Amino acid sequence: MSGFEEVNYYFRRAARIMDLSARVERMLITPYREVKVDVSLTLDNGDLGTFIGYRVQHDRSRGPMKGGLRYHPTVDMDEALGLASLMTWKTAVVNLPFGGAKGGIAVDPKTCSPRELERLTRRFVQQIHDIIGPHTDIPAPDVNTNAQVMAWIMDEYSMIHGFSPAVVTGKPVDLFGSKGREEATGRGVVVATAEFLGDLGAGPIAGKTFAIQGFGNVGSWTARFLHEAGGKVVAVSDSRGGIRNAAGLDIPALLGHAAKARTVTGFPGASPVSNEELLLLDVDVLIPSALGGVLTKDNAHEVRARHVVEAANAPTTPEADEIFQQRGIPVLPDIYANAGGVTVSYFEWVQNIQQFTWEADRITAELQRHMTEAYATLAKVARERRVPLRTAAFIVAIGRVGRATVLRGV
Ligand code: NAD
Repeated sequence: MSGFEEVNYYFRRAARIMDLSARVERMLITPYREVKVDVSLTLDNGDLGTFIGYRVQHDRSRGPMKGGLRYHPTVDMDEALGLASLMTWKTAVVNLPFGGAKGGIAVDPKTCSPRELERLTRRFVQQIHDIIGPHTDIPAPDVNTNAQVMAWIMDEYSMIHGFSPAVVTGKPVDLFGSKGREEATGRGVVVATAEFLGDLGAGPIAGKTFAIQGFGNVGSWTARFLHEAGGKVVAVSDSRGGIRNAAGLDIPALLGHAAKARTVTGFPGASPVSNEELLLLDVDVLIPSALGGVLTKDNAHEVRARHVVEAANAPTTPEADEIFQQRGIPVLPDIYANAGGVTVSYFEWVQNIQQFTWEADRITAELQRHMTEAYATLAKVARERRVPLRTAAFIVAIGRVGRATVLRGV
């Protein structure tokens, strides 16, 4: 199944339970706009670099479309379609006044100099500036893009359209970014995990063991907050490999090591573990926090974790999802678990539009409130309908987007 088909598989599973009409189903699945652009540029060595950029805008019935930009060699139209549709359902699950979008550039940023990366980003904005905007489509960071990339987007867009900080979120705090955005997704993952474990009667985070795949923005902040809550992070990994220590990794020391070495590998006091082995460790909670499609029919039978929390987008294929259901391993779905990032992006957008700054404690409190309220809604639907949390999340989201779509009409 392609990424878009996977999301639509989950969508249809929920739509069947809801008795959604075929007409509304087609309206909700059909993407609003798909854009593919050439972002060629002259490289530092004088050669021509040819790159393709993508932006998919999936649904705008509940507000401006919102979603990240990813710089990775695997970026293509299908991946963008799948992730854009996930954003439609994610913003609806946490009840933000946004629709869904996603995009990126098919490039390995590790092969680019900082100047090439800046030129690439600016070229991309020149190509898509007329379809993004503070009330149209608001990009944000995702894999291999960060606050600096968002700053370049804001600057380039503002050169064409005038001062527009609200065109993009995840900006540096010194350039109209929001306090708390950098750590928001990881903070939200930990709030979500606490709600999930508590609701299932599994007890608090303190004393539980966790394995985290990916140690970028989401994985590293998740590790830090779990550690602060008394959780034992026994394994982490990145694209170069992983490390483990059954007694629990010293996360503050590991953060220092990773900042210097630019990888978690080689951390003293831990033994190596491959990315494949990490997914199969005997832990209380497995948290995939890197790329999609890592839990599949080939490894789901061997997963020994007692719970799965999807911090990454689409880490579980539908086949693996079915296997987890049969095996009684509860999965906290991505469209809820990692929604803390887009929630604080919403706060950043609100601050930019109102030109009024919120303090960090207000951001944290509002994020906590959004995540806990959303969990309560999902858990209620899951219980009433006797469905897994992913199906409950889609039921909530489809209900909200569906009602807006029908009220607006075609
Ligand atoms: P990032 O670029 O900061 O980090 C990605 C991490 O994954 C890095 O540690 C990288 O080394 C690792 N990685 C890459 N390829 C890997 C591989 N093949 N095996 C193991 N590790 C690998 O990206 P991020 O922002 O942390 O995003 C991670 C995931 O979370 C993505 O699925 C993204 O869509 C999702 N997400 C991010 C945000 C956000 O606010 N940044 C919000 C919601 C969801």
